[in-house]
Amino acid sequence: MDRIDLVKESFERKEVPAEVPAGKTSEYFGELVFDRKKMCKYLDADSLQALLACIEGGEPLDRKTADGVARGMKEWAMEHGVTHVTHWFQPLTEGTAEKHDSLIDYDGKGGVIETFDGKMLAQQEPDASSFPSGGIRATFEARGYTAWDPTSPVFILDDTLCIPTVFISYTGEALDYKTPLKKALKAVSDAAVPICKLFDPGVGKVYSYLGWEQEYFLVDEALYAARTDLMITGRTLFGHNSSKNQQLDDHYFGAIPTRVAAFMRDLEVAGHRLGIPIKTRHNEVAPNQFELAPIYGETNLANDQNQIVMNLMGRIARKHGFVVLLHEKPFEGVNGSGKHNNWSLGTDKGTQLLAPGKDAKGNLQFITFFVNVLAAVQKHNALLKASIASATNAHRLGANEAPPAIVSAFLGRTMTEVLHKLLEVPSDTPIEIAGKKSKSVGLVEIPEVFVDNTDRNRTSPFAFTGNRFEFRAVGSSANCAGAMTTLNAAVAEQLLAFKAAVDAELAAGKKTNVAVMDALKPIIKSVLDVVCFDGNGYTEEWKKEAARRGLDIETNVPKMFCEFTKPAAVEMFTKTGVYTEKELEARNEVKWETYTKKVQIESRVMFRMALNHIVPAALEYKAKLLQELTLAKGIYGNLDNCTTELHILDDINKYVEEVRVKALAMKEARKAANVIEDDYERALAYREIAESFPALRRPIDKLEEVVDNKMWPLPKYREMLFIN
Ligand code: ADP
Ligand code: MG
Repeated sequence: MDRIDLVKESFERKEVPAEVPAGKTSEYFGELVFDRKKMCKYLDADSLQALLACIEGGEPLDRKTADGVARGMKEWAMEHGVTHVTHWFQPLTEGTAEKHDSLIDYDGKGGVIETFDGKMLAQQEPDASSFPSGGIRATFEARGYTAWDPTSPVFILDDTLCIPTVFISYTGEALDYKTPLKKALKAVSDAAVPICKLFDPGVGKVYSYLGWEQEYFLVDEALYAARTDLMITGRTLFGHNSSKNQQLDDHYFGAIPTRVAAFMRDLEVAGHRLGIPIKTRHNEVAPNQFELAPIYGETNLANDQNQIVMNLMGRIARKHGFVVLLHEKPFEGVNGSGKHNNWSLGTDKGTQLLAPGKDAKGNLQFITFFVNVLAAVQKHNALLKASIASATNAHRLGANEAPPAIVSAFLGRTMTEVLHKLLEVPSDTPIEIAGKKSKSVGLVEIPEVFVDNTDRNRTSPFAFTGNRFEFRAVGSSANCAGAMTTLNAAVAEQLLAFKAAVDAELAAGKKTNVAVMDALKPIIKSVLDVVCFDGNGYTEEWKKEAARRGLDIETNVPKMFCEFTKPAAVEMFTKTGVYTEKELEARNEVKWETYTKKVQIESRVMFRMALNHIVPAALEYKAKLLQELTLAKGIYGNLDNCTTELHILDDINKYVEEVRVKALAMKEARKAANVIEDDYERALAYREIAESFPALRRPIDKLEEVVDNKMWPLPKYREMLFIN
């Protein structure tokens, strides 16, 4: 089928209705999760109590408890027709990994029975040797194992019971995203609790919260299948701009196309049945770009849910004849996709630590956490950028539609003024809720709630939005854990340092509120001078200004990864118990290797498509034109009437030759890069290759403008972006 027929088929594809269960959402919400309600129903009293101690107190899971829990889980699972079980984990590749085992075992009487015991629940040994480990297993121990994380509930996907697990080597190093994330969450709680106790001695635990917003594109599956680049790399490596793309801003928050709406509805139902509180859906800025967001939750669970949703999206899209693109930049010239990570801290007593309090004491606590978060972001701005860096996110960062490649923080006018004011007034000045007291000189006031949408800055990568910070630089395809581990660990380190500073002030005999404010003042001064920036992050002046302030302005992704093994990062991660130095080194190896492989694959696809798809199409058109010229010459005896054909031929010759030369040069560059032994150096060489892609793309996109539309083999931007 040629392209024109494919386009017709896509255009005529009929909507598949969503399957919505009878009854209200609240009736089926969470039915496929082994949550507290099911625990109470299916577990005996001893197992239930022991399991809750594991979940709440971090007690280890003993074999007897595991057996008891497994018994109850099995009963529940079989009522849902489950036949298989898997440990579900998050290795350092993209996405999640699973290895399914059926529940059957011999019954000793010539038949089989369904079995599931505590051993299967608690631990599994997948053949892990082909997951990336950055040399950890090669050096130490060849095997890795998975172990249940009881803080993430077990869930059912199709016929399989999925057990969320950590993935570690036998020598104890983390081989996944979940293990360090859990350590960082513990670190931030441990560091935050003593500070909370200054304000409320009853606080026993601090939770980190994550509310992710997932952006994505949908493309008709027939068009997708005709684009080798989309299929293999997740993005288009060529493609001329559509005449209309997002200039009119008519897609953002527009009416959701019906086929897309049916997809979204199915996705929501699937998510709700799995206990994922999917809440928001809307069109995004680019054509065929959309967003989905749940209600925020505890970070470890919210991150698992994001992984599940990314997986569900892929499957459910196919039912509707779509393919979902999670790549950060599938199409040049229109917005890319990110995953905003809304992040906050809260106590086990229900206090939100990044929102104004009820009184002066609560407000001082808010300011304390607010300022310390900024200090952590300032100190580790380069590292935070490294935590979201990847070969794919590199296309989005620093483009004028996504966060700049400089991590600064946006506070908004109100909070900026409050911080300035605090530097001027005596340290015992209470911070009042605005409007509660009559105005007097020297009063520091904050609003009870922030009207956050009035004061937004889309160009900031780390923005305060009223009761949380929004880390906007995370890539759409990323595992949020990368960013969340670094952020929580950096904040933990800062809180430890801050507590020590407060203790020193207290030792000097100061009252608590004065001690806290005196410890805060130098930090406030510093963050206002350095990391806080409310201006336009896209401008050239900001790049210069940021460099002057000492913020990191590196744009080279392989180089960014070096931040992880610099002394400040090693000290921070080891002090908080999140990574060992060995793990940091190993992870960098994985990052460089992944970077190299991604660019290498794109480069190969680009070369082959250039020579197998593009050049032949151009030459076919050229042959047709030459034939016309021969005919013209035969009839008229000259080419006087053929200036158009001659001009087109000139263009084709010029661009085809440019394609050939650039493609071959890229291949040579690849050969040279491939023999480099060192992971880092090879990644740097591949970055040069990535930087050369636009030069090869340009003549190809020019050819798309020149060659007869009927002969062009690849679905065009206007087709992929506007059919839905
Ligand atoms: P917007 O696009 O305006 O930023 P959305 O409603 O799309 O807003 O997404 C906001 C996200 O932030 C939601 O997932 C929401 O649950 C989450 N969120 C709200 N409050 C908090 C909080 N205190 N901590 C973490 N996430 C939060
Ligand atoms: Mg947002």
